[in-house]
Amino acid sequence: MSVLLLNASYEPLTVISWRRAIVLVLEGECELLEQSEDRTIRTCGGAEFPFPVVVRLFNMVKAFRRGGKAPWTRSALRARDENTCQVAGCHANGSTVDHIVPRCRGGDTTWENTVLMCKLHNQRKGSRSLAGAGLTLKRPPRAPAFSAVLKTKAHPQWVAWLPA
Ligand SMILES: [Zn+2]
Repeated sequence: MSVLLLNASYEPLTVISWRRAIVLVLEGECELLEQSEDRTIRTCGGAEFPFPVVVRLFNMVKAFRRGGKAPWTRSALRARDENTCQVAGCHANGSTVDHIVPRCRGGDTTWENTVLMCKLHNQRKGSRSLAGAGLTLKRPPRAPAFSAVLKTKAHPQWVAWLPA
């Protein structure tokens, strides 16, 4: 699950992992603004921590994400590709993340190199190139604007902290 990170000014900065959020809170860098209503985290020592949903930095950082590219996450990719297989002509559910240049050939997990595919097309492509598998995409994969990803409001508890 992802956590919304706010600047000291309460402006949304980026989305981070819950593990990173907990480290920031424990190191005194962040305060916890929203926590999950139905989840907690138990450490191996048996202590319980609230599961973070929204955290805020105590010290202002430059808004490096403003107007910039959104960080790649699985849920943001699902939003960009509208949960649909990106192979032209296919309307199936995009249940798998496909690397256009396969990871075994050095392909990275980036916006430009990943698309959602249905199981069938993912298997058909395998470790071949798109052209090699005879597949074309509906549109070239690009990084969405950070604001567009935030607007998908991945978590209901984020809504209050996002610009309207
Ligand atoms: Zn498909």
